[in-house]
Amino acid sequence: MHHFTYKNNVLHCESVPLPIIAEAVDTPFYLYSSATLSHHFETFDSSFAGLPHLTCFAVKACSNLAVLRLFARLGGGADIVSGGELFRCLKAGVDPRRIIYSGVGKTREELRYGLLSGILLFNVESVQELELLQEVAATLEVKAPVSLRVNPDVDPRTHAYISTGLAKNKFGVPISEAAAVYRQARTMPNLKIMGVSCHIGSQLTEVSPFLESLRKLKDFMKQLAKAGIAIRYLDLGGGLGVRYQDETPPHPREYAEALKQELAGLDCTLILEPGRVIVCNAAVLVSRVLYTKRGRSKNFVIVDAAMNDLARPSLYDAFHDILPVDQGAVAARGRETADVVGPICESGDFLAKGRDLPVFESGDMLAVMSSGAYGFSMSSNYNSRPRVAEVLVQGEEFFVIRDRETYDTLIQGENIPDFLR
Ligand SMILES: *Cc1c(COP(=O)(O)O)cnc(C)c1O
Repeated sequence: MHHFTYKNNVLHCESVPLPIIAEAVDTPFYLYSSATLSHHFETFDSSFAGLPHLTCFAVKACSNLAVLRLFARLGGGADIVSGGELFRCLKAGVDPRRIIYSGVGKTREELRYGLLSGILLFNVESVQELELLQEVAATLEVKAPVSLRVNPDVDPRTHAYISTGLAKNKFGVPISEAAAVYRQARTMPNLKIMGVSCHIGSQLTEVSPFLESLRKLKDFMKQLAKAGIAIRYLDLGGGLGVRYQDETPPHPREYAEALKQELAGLDCTLILEPGRVIVCNAAVLVSRVLYTKRGRSKNFVIVDAAMNDLARPSLYDAFHDILPVDQGAVAARGRETADVVGPICESGDFLAKGRDLPVFESGDMLAVMSSGAYGFSMSSNYNSRPRVAEVLVQGEEFFVIRDRETYDTLIQGENIPDFLR
């Protein structure tokens, strides 16, 4: 469900026609629907009603301050993976007691920042990290709340780049070694053992891998209980998939029901870290056609957005649907098979490949659908392209929630050393 629909043949976000926004901010830009964002957050969160739980939005999926504020207003927490994300969350007004810190490579400064901010939990991923956290907490004379991220060795059956819970992945502590690590953590005076966590991958389209890892975690928690280690938080990570093309992922309610059955009788608070499923289809990337090249072997539609703006097609060969902004204008022209490509000097710079599309002409606008997750947040300045604007619609109004970067922003912080002057 989302709020991008045609009215009189023109694509709208909620009640705002896309051409009006393009006129105000120019192309390309990311466009978010606040109604869709709220709807997805509330649908997900309410699916777990009746269970003590905390929904911590995975900030890396979409990190704009306004988006973070919107979820904070709805009572959400945050799952962060860097000091920069912690900074954003605090600026956006996320309650630090609802922030959990994941990631394999937290630095000393980042651990310190988390402790000083009073976050809920550190999801620790190695013995070395535990030792460093103990040291930093001792210096600050505080107790660090920790969960250990265990790697349950479950195949999430998703793209290899976004699978994280297999023994061969870099994440977490192997579940077979985790009990020993908890016993070690218990001897560290400035650590407070609070939970167990896992995150097995992203864009999962079946419930069974989640259930498989939950069962492994439950057995593991029994083992800990026997050793006298009590667990207050069980963190099952994120990873629920969405429909980009023809995938049929479970609805959040189905996912929640399946987990609830497996969780019956468990006495702890559940933590969930959804990213993609909350934001993915709440945004589109709006781009304008610059040129077309029609050849004997291939047709190209060259647009003003590129792989630096949306990396997923180049990075994962991901599919994003492409829709004309003005359906009426293209209707009479028929259809063709074409690649939609950007201006970057790489053959891997494409947004769509070999796609059946309306015949686009120079000046037409198109919307790259389902771009809200790992869209802007993965964008870069490659080819010295200023990053695009982000716009949020609410009802009949729209707000620029991130200005388009300028050429001056591009060189901010760069210096020519004296010897070159
Ligand atoms: C990326 C990530 C998430 C979010 O994953 P989605 O597939 O976007 O739901 C949650 N937890 C951790 C630890 C992550 O690294």
